[in-house]
Amino acid sequence: MAENFKEAKQEMSDGHQVVFNFHVHHLAGKLSWQTVKDYDTDCRALPTSWLFEMHLQQVPINGNVSIPVTLKRNDTANRPVNAYVTIGFTDPNCSSFFDDVISFGRRYVKSGEEIQENIVLYIRLPEKRKLFNEDLLVTVAIRIRSCHSGSISNPLSPDKKRKLCSMM
Ligand SMILES: [Zn+2]
Repeated sequence: MAENFKEAKQEMSDGHQVVFNFHVHHLAGKLSWQTVKDYDTDCRALPTSWLFEMHLQQVPINGNVSIPVTLKRNDTANRPVNAYVTIGFTDPNCSSFFDDVISFGRRYVKSGEEIQENIVLYIRLPEKRKLFNEDLLVTVAIRIRSCHSGSISNPLSPDKKRKLCSMM
């Protein structure tokens, strides 16, 4: 696990969320870098368990980087829930490398299923590429919905997405 790892769990009327972040130093010196994170919602009605996995690599000189991410549901409960992931890639001062944070997810995720996403990003400026490769702050929010309430899915509003990094 990366250094300076922090997390905050929260229960809401319509679900649960965890927000965590970590610094990745010196990606340039690594072939690839993997992070794995467990998340238990601890829901009283329908507790679910999740495994988040992400492979990072340095941004090459052409500025294109692809980042495979998976969120797997690991519990054995027999009811589907809705799951959403939001990820921000910033420098240590929460200044984003990209125009927007990345969000994905879907409804009706069953036990044993996983959500896969290949994030493809482009960093144009050489100084930004250098910073990404040397001192990257990744902030991840995982949201689980429809376990203790029947309400419809409720992903983050665009306004809240932009503030993801500063939620920590
Ligand atoms: Zn719940």
